[in-house]
Amino acid sequence: MPEIVVATGNPHKVEEIRAIFARERVEGVRLVGLDEVPGGPFGEPEETGKTFEDNATIKAMTYAKATGRLCLADDSGLEVDALGGRPGVISSHYCTDGYASELSREDRDRRNNERVLRELDGVVFGRRAARFVCVMVLAHPARGRLKTTRGVFEGRIGEPGEVPRGANGFGYDPLFLLPPDFARTSAEMTADEKNAKSHRGAAAKAMAAWLRGAKL
Ligand code: IMP
Repeated sequence: MPEIVVATGNPHKVEEIRAIFARERVEGVRLVGLDEVPGGPFGEPEETGKTFEDNATIKAMTYAKATGRLCLADDSGLEVDALGGRPGVISSHYCTDGYASELSREDRDRRNNERVLRELDGVVFGRRAARFVCVMVLAHPARGRLKTTRGVFEGRIGEPGEVPRGANGFGYDPLFLLPPDFARTSAEMTADEKNAKSHRGAAAKAMAAWLRGAKL
């Protein structure tokens, strides 16, 4: 059975992608984590691209070459309209202007959220539109990039006092209010609810649909 390495160091993402592929009945493919591949640990490539597509391709190709296996990687982030699309590709390290730091993931998430709220200070709720974007790339060590899919998840950044809220998810989820009524953040959804609507869910579903008909 062909194996696909889910090439990410973020355990939340591996869980989300596994759950989605199981629900979409991708059969005949085994998903494994990077930590299950012999020869590791594999160094994380630098995400030097200007777009989510660039960075997902860099990650999928680097890990495919390092492991010698089919690798699935994603790049994702938050685009806030009132901030001209920032934090965008630097979402995970926004609090340090996109540069990697020694901060734990938890500290980073908290400071990233604080920065977004600070920068939106005084912006009325109707102008706080934002979206999560996810681009997924499947790469083969010799054949290169096989497939790219993309998903978006529209919402609004809540106002301080109302957010941060919710204990599920990660990253900017505690700030991200969901249409149509903007009563809940994505950190207040269950994993299944989020997967059914999210950017990563949509990109993974499109990848699953392609994989069902693909000869790997
Ligand atoms: P990546 O690991 O380079 O794809 O960076 C993704 C970053 O975007 C994360 O560290 C979060 O800050 C943010 N992000 C992406 N997807 C989500 C999500 O589903 N919820 C909350 N934050 C997200």
